Amino acid sequence: MYTYDTLLAKVTTAGGPVREVTDPATGAPIGSVPVNTVADLDGAVARAVAAQPEWAALSDEDRRQTLLALADAVDASAEALALVLSREQGKPLNGPNARFEVGACASWLRANAALDLPTETVLDDESGHAVLHYRPVGTVGVITPWNWPMMIAIWQIAPSLRMGNTVVAKPSEYTTLSGLALAAVLNDVLPAGVLEVVTGAGEIGDALVRRPEIGKVMFTGSTATGSKIISASADNITRLTLELGGNDAGIVLPDVDPAAIAEDLFWGAFINTGQTCAALKRLYVHDDVYDAVVQALAELAAKMPMGVGTDEANVLGPMQNKMQFDVVDSLVEDAKARGARVVLGGDPDRDAVGYFYPTTLVADIDDGAALVQQEQFGPALPIVRFSDVDEVVAAANGIEAGLGASVWSADRDAAVAVAGRLQAGTVWINSHGGVHPYVPFGGAKRSGYGLEFGVEGLKSVAVPQVISG
Ligand code: ADP
Repeated sequence: MYTYDTLLAKVTTAGGPVREVTDPATGAPIGSVPVNTVADLDGAVARAVAAQPEWAALSDEDRRQTLLALADAVDASAEALALVLSREQGKPLNGPNARFEVGACASWLRANAALDLPTETVLDDESGHAVLHYRPVGTVGVITPWNWPMMIAIWQIAPSLRMGNTVVAKPSEYTTLSGLALAAVLNDVLPAGVLEVVTGAGEIGDALVRRPEIGKVMFTGSTATGSKIISASADNITRLTLELGGNDAGIVLPDVDPAAIAEDLFWGAFINTGQTCAALKRLYVHDDVYDAVVQALAELAAKMPMGVGTDEANVLGPMQNKMQFDVVDSLVEDAKARGARVVLGGDPDRDAVGYFYPTTLVADIDDGAALVQQEQFGPALPIVRFSDVDEVVAAANGIEAGLGASVWSADRDAAVAVAGRLQAGTVWINSHGGVHPYVPFGGAKRSGYGLEFGVEGLKSVAVPQVISG
């Protein structure tokens, strides 16, 4: 069990090439993390490969029990993990943020311990007998982003371990401390080599993908990097699961009660201060309820405290990095220049030390605006007016991303009918972005391919083998 200080001491380093980590809310230094070389990567891969046969030779029940022990270890150090996460990533301890993320890590480990992927007799008659087994891939490469650095790592580590694989994980260079802290807690339980971590930026990720010993790469990040990973995977035919960028539409039909849906709309869009792959990023509201929905959202959003994550009062935090702050800022400025109406926010203090972008609602914006067409990945929601369902379906489908979408209506059948027409891996009804460890999750179109979570997630880190005869 760690405290914040003992955990930080375990994962920060003074010697060798390091990267300084600063708090995105205050600019205060937190510590420094190692920046690994390709030689370090080679060592990590070799250790993970060497550990794999013994790990795979354990019984499934042993690995299930180990996952449960990992969940207990996460729970025991939950507050220390949440503090590291909050200080490095920026997300508040409270709200659906740091403590929530650490709690999700423990739940995902437990759910992956509970799932079952039995062998399947696929043919058993006079024509023959065939059984489908799922074997470990070997060693899985896990490459993760900076928005949910612990939870997304666990999404990929937990099923990989359960299926008898070892893992080499590369956290984002923006949230290395969070990745190392989580691994430190897990590695107190795991045998040596089962979970290795390498640090660094894109070139280390690229080198990891190109290693012939890595049988599978689980990647969550941008679509541009996903394309590079596909190219890098070609020589070794490395298997891939890619969860890439989204720009999720939410469609509000005219029969809703605006006050009743405002809070779920808000968190659908502003969870993790908008820095979430499957957040609601383009809100389309029917003309009949447009003004009432905008008003209800604005009243609620104005009351949501934003500030330093370790202050218990806050539920919204800073942007994790300056690059993302600038993306949001320029998209909102562009929307203003096009004549859109800023209902709330839109006036950041660009000279402040922390990367705070205020909660922003942009109404009366046209569908062609960059703030609608591009993924803002921050706390600025464009709200587009519509009056024709066919037109709004076309607008929602009119981009290259297809991660999630949502339909909001008092009439479930009407919502489901619209949902079926949307090109997205998940369509939520009257909520947006909720995930569950038993429910498969993956993207359509350029949001990637492959499924995570549930039995499908276990299959994605296994190699099917048919024994026939
Ligand atoms: P984000 O905008 O979420 O940071 P990126 O796609 O840039 O998205 O980064 C996600 C993860 O992919 C990070 O861990 C990053 O270091 C890693 N990465 C970046 N470029 C590459 C690459 N060419 N090959 C493999 N991993 C990469």
